[in-house]
Amino acid sequence: MTKFTKAVGLWLAAFLLVIVCCTPAYARNYTFVDAHLHYVDFFQHSDGVESLLDAMDHTHVEHAQLMGIGVAKKWDAHAPKKPRFFMSDDAPVYWYSATDYLLAEALTRAPDNVQARFSPFISGFNPTDLNAAEHIQRLIDLYPGFWKGIGEIFTRHDDLTRLTEGEVPRADHPALMAVYRLAAERKLPVLVHSNITAKRENRPLYLDEFEQAVKANPDTVFLWAHAGTSEELNRRLGRLSFLRDEVERMLKAYPNLYIDLSWTVLEPYLLDASGHPRQEWVRLIQRYPDRFTLGSDLVGQFYPMKQVLNRFIPFLDALDERTANKVARDNFMALMGIE
Ligand SMILES: [Zn+2]
Repeated sequence: MTKFTKAVGLWLAAFLLVIVCCTPAYARNYTFVDAHLHYVDFFQHSDGVESLLDAMDHTHVEHAQLMGIGVAKKWDAHAPKKPRFFMSDDAPVYWYSATDYLLAEALTRAPDNVQARFSPFISGFNPTDLNAAEHIQRLIDLYPGFWKGIGEIFTRHDDLTRLTEGEVPRADHPALMAVYRLAAERKLPVLVHSNITAKRENRPLYLDEFEQAVKANPDTVFLWAHAGTSEELNRRLGRLSFLRDEVERMLKAYPNLYIDLSWTVLEPYLLDASGHPRQEWVRLIQRYPDRFTLGSDLVGQFYPMKQVLNRFIPFLDALDERTANKVARDNFMALMGIE
């Protein structure tokens, strides 16, 4: 062996060593369940089932929770132009029941193998109407065996609440208490959006309402949408110092509670400003590995699904592999009784 080949050999060995040492043993390939997904937007428009299936296939989303949106935004005659979002102008939103029929008609026309990829939830009812449970029962009877849950029920939701016509909803409203009882009877989990506080209050102002609901209905499975956060709360108050401890306290006290980690929890809670997982949340989820789900919270347009769900990967990678797969997929499947 010449000096030259020896040097090349040594260099090659060093290079291989670097590759072996510095490359992870394997990259995890997650299969997702999107556990928070709206078939329509606030104008009840949808890109449709085909487009949704494309996005799911492209993102390794095996299964999705799917719901309408229980309110519609009004295009007011005084509006300078047609609004693009519920916060585009000051026109109100109103409770809109047809959202469930739009979803049911779209899915029941799809082939069985497509239907099987979705767990549809009922969302189109006024949560302050004492008739709400009766409306839901009618829908269950009309599409037997079709509905797999109830929600997203909008209760405390900052600007959305402000723009909603009529009585202000709250998680422990008597109309909703009847809905939770029906949900327990029918074994339908409920996805409840109940902000933990208001935009200018740095304390858990509304937590008690949600806690009363969870406590009074131990046989109802509650999914707490976004762990009580919202985009507006994040914008106004930043990272709430009490959120993680309150979530832990609630998980410990109420075995019927699950936490939806959809996007407003991801940042600024699960990941820090440089995109690194926060250990306090890693530890919490490791402690309660069966109690968390994640979702995209897309509304009617599905092409960003991959971009949205892939943002969870750095956090999932910080969990042990079994827990990561539970959060990404298995927990929601278990709730739906699907293996
Ligand atoms: Zn949502």
